[in-house]
Amino acid sequence: MNIIGGGPIGLFTASKLAKAGLNPVVHETHEKIGYPEHCTGLVSNNIDALVEPEVVLHYINGAKFFCGKKEAVITKKKVAKVIDRAAFDLQLYDLAVSNGAKVKLNSKVNHKDFSKNIIAADGAFGQTRSDFNQKLGFLPAMQYDLNEKPQSDMVELWFEPWNPDFFIWVVPRGNRVRVGTASKNLLPLKSFIQKRFGRIRTHKKYAGLVVTSGPVKKTQFKSDKSQVFLVGDSAGQVKPTTGGGLVTGLTCANILSNVIIDQQPETYEASWRQTLGKELKLQKLARWMMIRNPSGFIDFITKNRAGLESYGDMDYQTRQLKKFLPSLPKLILGALFGSKTNK
Ligand SMILES: Cc1cc2nc3c(=O)[nH]c(=O)nc-3n(C[C@H](O)[C@H](O)[C@H](O)COP(=O)(O)OP(=O)(O)OC[C@H]3O[C@@H](n4cnc5c(N)ncnc54)[C@H](O)[C@@H]3O)c2cc1C
Repeated sequence: MNIIGGGPIGLFTASKLAKAGLNPVVHETHEKIGYPEHCTGLVSNNIDALVEPEVVLHYINGAKFFCGKKEAVITKKKVAKVIDRAAFDLQLYDLAVSNGAKVKLNSKVNHKDFSKNIIAADGAFGQTRSDFNQKLGFLPAMQYDLNEKPQSDMVELWFEPWNPDFFIWVVPRGNRVRVGTASKNLLPLKSFIQKRFGRIRTHKKYAGLVVTSGPVKKTQFKSDKSQVFLVGDSAGQVKPTTGGGLVTGLTCANILSNVIIDQQPETYEASWRQTLGKELKLQKLARWMMIRNPSGFIDFITKNRAGLESYGDMDYQTRQLKKFLPSLPKLILGALFGSKTNK
């Protein structure tokens, strides 16, 4: 079986299929696994089984939210971790190869090159979904690694009037801090850094595409010669609230490899949607409320702090929605009729 894309999703799928003796071949267009880098690497503990301690750069103890003069905090010891994405991808590469997968670097391919079933894990920039007329919504992103010592083990999310599309993240990563955002207008990010740190001491700069639309309509296709499966960013299996796609993509890769191993590939679409479909749909709604009414969102967090600290989940954010029902009408009305700016 051929897999397009040697990112985390393609490599993890390959490791599972190889272990089951299905001889996968991964094609990666770049010459080096893990590069170019674009991801912040913030992940929940839900994929701990796959994360070796050596790739962890920082353990996270909660989040601080800012909007104008308002602030909210959620504290939870070791609720998440920041991983070195290039090192994580290499770790998945080693696992795939040691299980017997072949990985071909410098190998740019198209699904039409193959006559058997194909897995397209070709990411947000990938061509396969467009070949099957599937559309994704995304925003350009920019990030800076700063030569600043982290002041805490908390992630910061800033809602700024100049960016009505997304929040600005400030993430501790070992001895440095990464600041980034996704937006149609990335120019003011440097002024934000100047304001937040009083100076700009850039170590490195990264660009990328953050998927914000949720999944594409269809992730499984029959062409003349074969079946094609979309998985990971390529399928839009990304949390619309945060743009985080590692846990969701790996969850879907796990489902895809299991149905292939069980010789029931036709059940892929229904299976992953059963696990994540509703969650991602609700997160799309939550994203809309958050960016339309960031001030109300901060109030919502403050009001529900205790609940969020005890049963909030970074990945399955809407699972406990019922517990927060009393605060939702205000948030929804604020999003519908409130100001779009983050006053
Ligand atoms: C700025 C930014 C910050 C992010 N931060 C986080 C975060 O903190 N936490 C989180 O969980 N997620 C984050 N994400 C999302 C995360 O990076 C993605 O969800 C994840 O990388 C998806 O993995 P993937 O394997 O599907 O795609 P990718 O990692 O994009 O891998 C796809 C691979 O396919 C290859 N490829 C494409 N076309 C071809 C072709 N034709 N032939 C051969 N190879 C091909 C590419 O070169 C690439 O290596 C972030 C994304 C961005 C842009």
